[in-house]
Amino acid sequence: MISVKDALAVILESCRPLGLEKVDLLGGRGRVIGEDVYAPRDIPSAANSAMDGYAVRCGDTIKASEAEPVELKVIETIAAGASPAKSVRPGQAARIMTGAVIPKGADAVIRREDTVEQGKTVFIKKAAHQGLDIRFSGEDVQKGECVIKAGSVLSPGHIGMLAALGKAFVAVHSRPRVAIVSTGDELVDIETDPGPGKIVNSNSYSLAALVSACGGVPLLTDIVRDKKEDLATALQSAARADVILSSGGVSMGDYDFVKDVMGDIGNAMRFWQVAMRPGKPLAFGSIGETPLFGLPGNPVSVMVSFEQFVRPYLLKMQGHTKLARLSVTATSAQTIEKPAGLRYFLRAVVQEQNGRFIARLTGEQGSGILKSMVEANALMVLPEERTRVKKGEDVVIQWLNEPLWG
Ligand code: AMP
Ligand code: MG
Repeated sequence: MISVKDALAVILESCRPLGLEKVDLLGGRGRVIGEDVYAPRDIPSAANSAMDGYAVRCGDTIKASEAEPVELKVIETIAAGASPAKSVRPGQAARIMTGAVIPKGADAVIRREDTVEQGKTVFIKKAAHQGLDIRFSGEDVQKGECVIKAGSVLSPGHIGMLAALGKAFVAVHSRPRVAIVSTGDELVDIETDPGPGKIVNSNSYSLAALVSACGGVPLLTDIVRDKKEDLATALQSAARADVILSSGGVSMGDYDFVKDVMGDIGNAMRFWQVAMRPGKPLAFGSIGETPLFGLPGNPVSVMVSFEQFVRPYLLKMQGHTKLARLSVTATSAQTIEKPAGLRYFLRAVVQEQNGRFIARLTGEQGSGILKSMVEANALMVLPEERTRVKKGEDVVIQWLNEPLWG
């Protein structure tokens, strides 16, 4: 039996990132950009007003105060997007809107709140220093500057910046196509009434959701019955994808053939069984060149195993370098006991209370209790050697809900 840490090392060591593809800008959210992006122009392109107000010569306002406002002549109104027609000379001001270009001669903006308007004159009630409420050309981005580095994960902030730079398309790392193969004689399709002894295949759907949540493209395949030949055929066909995830058929049972098939046609099982709960019966290997994660069948195990091993693998394929979920310390709301030897991943709801994170378990923790995943926003990770967590003690939790660019 391999440890969680070693299993992850084996898995990641075998992972090769995919190449690049061009996508439209919005399709790039959460993906890893594969090019450095340089600014083709200054942003803003010209000095403009940060406020609605009056563009003035600050020298004219030195003596201005609430009690003794300075009177200036208003020469024009400049809207955002318009070009100023006149220069501001001593004793003059131009009414200006936020984002409009600063006219020649002006070197400050007095916000409207600090003025009193009277027909073609304005009374300035506040002294301005040079540059007050002016955004200078290039103050955000300078022409030629490398604004976004290759390897960045595109957040909404990056998307906005790329748009501002006029980039409608970006080169990002490709998304892995992930074939999902659920096995089991007891499984029926989602819209079939299961009847006695049967259950609906839910794993294909939870896996598909997990795959797309981390940027992969899920490919659902037909349910495979517990026959070795059927499984071999299904896995061989699935090997056309970039990654195969199987669910079920990887334990000790008489009809658990994933390991055999991996060994027979892949001749490449790297390990089987990881020292964790849930998720112990995990096999990792390949079918031809295509990596195969033989995930356990229990609905919670399959998701927890995905989280620990498949997600980091798929992220690495997409060029991500931050592969682990964000972990923080939380306070356990209850006493928990466990045997030494296995690393536990308990499903938890973590909430902030008076500046501290409090973790409470989502009820019954059996690996078949899918409900325990429904409410969970975190996994509570109890190390192999730890046997007891007392109420109020620190525990490490892994957030399940931060975005890819977080
Ligand atoms: P197995 O590892 O194949 O023995 O499966 C372990 C448990 O998970 C059994 O109770 C199965 O019925 C259940 N199971 C297996 N595959 C699925 C699936 N695709 N959807 C929901 N439950 C499953
Ligand atoms: Mg089975």
